[in-house]
Amino acid sequence: MTYDINNVFAKILRGEIPTNKLYEDEYVIAFNDIHPKAPVHVLVVPKSAYTDFNDLMERAEKEEVNGIFKAVEAVAKQLGVVQGGYKLLMNVGSGAGQEVPHLHIHILAEKK
Ligand code: AMP
Repeated sequence: MTYDINNVFAKILRGEIPTNKLYEDEYVIAFNDIHPKAPVHVLVVPKSAYTDFNDLMERAEKEEVNGIFKAVEAVAKQLGVVQGGYKLLMNVGSGAGQEVPHLHIHILAEKK
């Protein structure tokens, strides 16, 4: 998958498309999915330009990988879904249904 600098998440990260940020730190931002597939459906989007999980694992330093997944943990806690349970989803590649070519982790849960 090639990185398209005009993908929707790159535009959100650059502030060209508005979004309600639920969380932000050094490594990621998080916001609600525009077409939620569960009562809680949040996207955690790394600030760096990785196309997908493969690209992250090939190019990122351990510190950044750790930072991204610690952020996922923090967002799940903030959403209040830890006790009830939640799903993490990454579509990796267009063959798996990845639509936006900028790495993102879906957090899905039934209720807060
Ligand atoms: P994926 O199929 O894993 O690439 O997921 C892309 C997700 O991004 C889909 O669930 C879309 O509903 C979501 N999405 C696309 N555009 C936006 C947007 N502007 N704001 C929030 N979510 C979006």
